[in-house]
Amino acid sequence: MNTATLDDQGVVVACPECGQQNRLMYNRLGDTVRCAKCKTTLPSVATPIDIDSAAHFDALVGGASLPVVVDYWAPWCGPCRMVAPELVKVAARQAGKLIVAKVNTDELSDLGRRFGIMSIPTMAVFAGGHEVERTSGARPAGDIEAFVAQATTRATSR
Ligand SMILES: [Zn+2]
Repeated sequence: MNTATLDDQGVVVACPECGQQNRLMYNRLGDTVRCAKCKTTLPSVATPIDIDSAAHFDALVGGASLPVVVDYWAPWCGPCRMVAPELVKVAARQAGKLIVAKVNTDELSDLGRRFGIMSIPTMAVFAGGHEVERTSGARPAGDIEAFVAQATTRATSR
């Protein structure tokens, strides 16, 4: 399982071959990138990314060349725990096509307030730097994928 962290410019992942840290630039997330050290083709981000700060959230959703599905959640929320493994499936199945990002609204309450998150789990789709759709409540991976596909289709046809 690869773990991904964020910085101001991109998603930082370890090369599965040599362990070298590589940055996948936000505006090139859909591109094929090779490890700077051993030239292995790096796998697309295939796991949910835990957002650690509002600045990194803004950098990701503002610059990402792929749609970003944001899951607003909190550790004490039962339905959030139910949807967590579904989002893991979505991130794996849709690797290279979208990014799944998780916002803990207890830790990042400023983001929850800014987006007016009233109930959790809430899932929001960002495309082209803007929120295009949101929905509340837990649902299976297939439904999440359908929701995202619908939201991004609508966003690009606008
Ligand atoms: Zn490498």
